[in-house]
Amino acid sequence: MQTFDITIIGGGHAGIEAAHIAAQFGVRVGIITMPGIGLGSAPCNPSVGGVGKGQVVRELDALGGLMGILADKAGIQFRTLNDSKGFAVQSSRVQIDKDLYSIEAEKLIATISGIVVVREKVIEIKSIDEGFEIFTTERTYRTKKLIMTVGTFLNGKLHTGSTQTQGGRVGCEPSLGLGSLFCEIKTLPMRFKTGTPPRIDKATIDYTKLEEQPSDASVRNFHCLHEPFVRFSEQVSCYLARTNPETMNIIRVNKERSPMFNGQIKGVGARYCPSIEDKAYRYPDKNVHHVFIEPEGLNLNTMYPSGISSSLPKDIQQDYVRSIEGLEKAEILVYGYAVEYDVIDTTELSLTLEHTQFPNLYFAGQVNGTSGYEEAAGQGYIAGVNAALTLLGLDPLILSRHESYIGVMIEDLASNTRDEPYRLFTARSENRLFIREDNSLLRMFPYRSQLHLNTALDAYQRKFINAYEELMSFCDETMIPETSPLILEFSGEGDLQKLSKRMSVTEILKQAWLNPVLTLERLLGYHGVTVSLDLIRTVAISKKYDGYIKRSESQFERLKKMDGMKIDWVGISASKNISFECRQRIIRIKPDTFGQLKLIEGIRPATLAVVAAKAL
Ligand SMILES: Cc1cc2nc3c(=O)[nH]c(=O)nc-3n(C[C@H](O)[C@H](O)[C@H](O)COP(=O)(O)OP(=O)(O)OC[C@H]3O[C@@H](n4cnc5c(N)ncnc54)[C@H](O)[C@@H]3O)c2cc1C
Repeated sequence: MQTFDITIIGGGHAGIEAAHIAAQFGVRVGIITMPGIGLGSAPCNPSVGGVGKGQVVRELDALGGLMGILADKAGIQFRTLNDSKGFAVQSSRVQIDKDLYSIEAEKLIATISGIVVVREKVIEIKSIDEGFEIFTTERTYRTKKLIMTVGTFLNGKLHTGSTQTQGGRVGCEPSLGLGSLFCEIKTLPMRFKTGTPPRIDKATIDYTKLEEQPSDASVRNFHCLHEPFVRFSEQVSCYLARTNPETMNIIRVNKERSPMFNGQIKGVGARYCPSIEDKAYRYPDKNVHHVFIEPEGLNLNTMYPSGISSSLPKDIQQDYVRSIEGLEKAEILVYGYAVEYDVIDTTELSLTLEHTQFPNLYFAGQVNGTSGYEEAAGQGYIAGVNAALTLLGLDPLILSRHESYIGVMIEDLASNTRDEPYRLFTARSENRLFIREDNSLLRMFPYRSQLHLNTALDAYQRKFINAYEELMSFCDETMIPETSPLILEFSGEGDLQKLSKRMSVTEILKQAWLNPVLTLERLLGYHGVTVSLDLIRTVAISKKYDGYIKRSESQFERLKKMDGMKIDWVGISASKNISFECRQRIIRIKPDTFGQLKLIEGIRPATLAVVAAKAL
């Protein structure tokens, strides 16, 4: 019987991240994953990053994770989302070649001597005295710690029109039950659902009718040790198309054939990732929706039309796709479908993602009711690092929600019963002015140092932090006289007044109308100081937001005090001043403190105001 210290079931985005970090501690790691699916495969949108998610990838990268390295290697189009908005909500997004991503994941995992990859299907798991016994279709394994990352496979069922098949995703078997241990794990009463759009033959699209979106050479690669702007792969364009009244009408008149709306699918989908049916029926007045036409890979002949995921019958998918300008002759190579699956109740997990009722058992990824590769990878890292740390008798690694999006997500999961798939977005954080992409290295450095891994990454980070502190001091101490030719250059008409006195570089960077990054770059150039663009960005944006962040920190301190305040949930749930929906949620979670109440999904600010007013 083969034994591992840590076994991970599932080689998806959560599984490989868990295995990769755990193996850094010299423990024996096994990944047991179904045959026929490559490591880190992307069953849906072939992209990494995006709003709130780009931050997670950079946090992972600073912590020594895998996702940023793989996304750079497989990246075929780079963009910054929200680039017209503030730096805090800007996020990088990379279109990936999905085959290449998986090939790179296989290559990288194969180079790590402590990891064994087993391609077998797990059919039963039993709890034993010193861990778990895992039964696959072929043999039995023993492990001290077990991390479950089985994605959408738990009792998975696929739907296209009235056709229903058992499966974890198209072409894959489901995981049925997983045996006696799993009978005791609490799953949510409702199932979750996600869907994917039809894939289109790239040769049948008329690109002249679509808006081209080329790759942006100025977006920095994710991995901090990679050359910032040198790409590993050929860069290609994505395209923008739009639905129209005819598209939406085809979907609307076929409502009774939609599994999501005729009662066939009972699972709950993500509100923030709606299918084209959701858009058609929920927003009957809106006919124009963006459809991003994105390549799935350099050598693949399919394009992924983002924004029109569907489980409608094949003939309707064909009709609505062909109603879109530029797609009149489109041939569908793979039809869209939805998958329904079981998820566990994450309120039974601790902040290390260990199950509170079953020690040494961890859960990460889509099986926890989240949606998205980045969310899965972030959880995989936390489960993997903590399984390894506790095995070695070391302190756990818990990221604060105040300092990271990964921390926000884990705390949200552990504090709340989900009633819909969880996605990260910037509004989930109370501190989003601070938890930005540009300063992820600074934010993660104390956590990464706590692991004492001392690799090239740690050496790079120490050097970066020292240089950061030096440049911050330089900005405080260097005064620019009002007569400097630079001041004249920076001042537009009407602004000259504001720069009419001697100021420190820090004060200049805070001027509202100046782009802090370009300004610092020019100022440093003028003073003959050469530093990396990464450092310039981090310092310039930190200076710009300094005042806001101090204000938000003092608000946070006040909120932290309030969070500890005891509340009477029985009394609150009987209050007529609180909506029925909020009262139901309060009765289900039974929060003892204001902090717990605040974290309950769906609790409205008005409810918080009523409770706070009573308590103060
Ligand atoms: C149809 C579909 C549509 C999706 N749409 C979106 C979307 O629009 N946006 C989005 O962000 N995300 C979407 N996703 C979700 C995205 O795929 C996941 O968020 C991400 O892959 C989750 O990573 P994971 O590691 O948790 O699970 P997965 O990547 O699914 O990996 C699970 C792994 O577990 C293995 N496994 C399962 N059961 C067993 C077993 N019994 N024995 C051995 N191995 C097992 C599987 O082989 C697989 O490798 C979609 C997924 C699907 C299937």
